[in-house]
Amino acid sequence: MKLYNLKNHYEQVSFLKAVKMGLGEHQGLFFPIDLPILKAKELDAMIEMDFLTRSVKILSMLIGNEISINDLKKYVYHAFSFPGPKIAPVTDNISCCELFHGPTLAFKDFGARFMERILSHLNTNNEIITILTATSGDTGAAVAHAFYKSKNIRVVILYPEGKISKLQETLFCTLGHNITTIAIDGSFDECQTLVKQAFNDHQLKKNTGLNSANSINISRLLAQICYYFEAYALIPKKHRNNIVISVPCGNFGNLTAGLLAKSMGLPIKSFIAATNTNDTVPRFLKTGKWKPYNCISTISNAMDISRPNNWPRVEELFHRKKWKLNQLGYGSISDNVTCKTLIQLKNMGYISEPHAAIAYKLLKNQLQSNEYGLFFGTAHPAKFKNVVDDILNITVPLPEKLKIPSKLPILSHYMKPNFEKLKKILIT
Ligand SMILES: *Cc1c(COP(=O)(O)O)cnc(C)c1O
Repeated sequence: MKLYNLKNHYEQVSFLKAVKMGLGEHQGLFFPIDLPILKAKELDAMIEMDFLTRSVKILSMLIGNEISINDLKKYVYHAFSFPGPKIAPVTDNISCCELFHGPTLAFKDFGARFMERILSHLNTNNEIITILTATSGDTGAAVAHAFYKSKNIRVVILYPEGKISKLQETLFCTLGHNITTIAIDGSFDECQTLVKQAFNDHQLKKNTGLNSANSINISRLLAQICYYFEAYALIPKKHRNNIVISVPCGNFGNLTAGLLAKSMGLPIKSFIAATNTNDTVPRFLKTGKWKPYNCISTISNAMDISRPNNWPRVEELFHRKKWKLNQLGYGSISDNVTCKTLIQLKNMGYISEPHAAIAYKLLKNQLQSNEYGLFFGTAHPAKFKNVVDDILNITVPLPEKLKIPSKLPILSHYMKPNFEKLKKILIT
């Protein structure tokens, strides 16, 4: 697999190099040169396969011979060794595709765990790698758990203090070992800025073997393509021609993966890019003007991002495939409407959480009568227990996976968004 830098098309690298580098020069995202397309017969055969077999097939098609098929198979089976996507019907023609049955109860487990395998594969000469990542919640947990006790890999996670749920915090800030967590007195965007500064510091980057595990990393996106195929395979045949998928978007990695799946020939009719009040993309699609506002805190905090870093990939894909951006559904939902939607869902017998509820609401509003809608359940309701309990007047039971960490002490450092201080922690 060859990829080019979106900011300098002459910078071209292999898949493994792109995973190792994260970003190219001028902070450019890597994007595949070849976009493989499945023949109708191949696709039919693949849909019949089980999730793991099919995922190996998809990833080997994309990655090519850089990783032997035997290794790739091992990595996929290890990375996806947890319950995959599940379909939960909500109405006659709308279901939730639940992606939250992994170890940290969010869809990010798929990408983070695959990335861990690839980085470990790369790290044959035992250099130290430092994963530096900013999180608005779920990335931190998924990355920390995926890399926990990984050999020669240190993980440093920045998160906005007080802006993620207590449960989320306990899930990744209590591990210790090779996992360092830093609570920043600021917003998620400020965390992301610090990460960018670190990557701009060439000396630091070299000395610490800096790598990002954010969804800018191509390995995460490729892994996520796999569950779109699975979602499709889980839908009854009679509905498969008219599937609309509504994706709760933050950094737009999830949606990018879906669009890549479609570009490979997966017959998804259309997508809806669903955001909360941080609506840079919906406003852009409406007005043609890219105008990020300051980030606003909402109850769907994993989507509190006003400068989504995967957006250039979405634009590139539309450009390459000669698709029209106006074919992309979109919308933004306020906290107020999110709460009402959660209650509506509960009344229909489905307990959800704010991110999925946003995707559901826009899907419900935009779905045509001949279409079949899927909205992604990106996190387990228990991860947003405070909000969900409060709005729905219930007590969401804590799944086993969350029970143990919630008793452990938080091991985080605390600091203002100050690059010099971060640097100190990184070099010690
Ligand atoms: C990360 C996350 C999102 C946003 O996903 P992107 O790939 O960044 O767009 C949505 N919902 C939840 C629960 C998340 O953790």
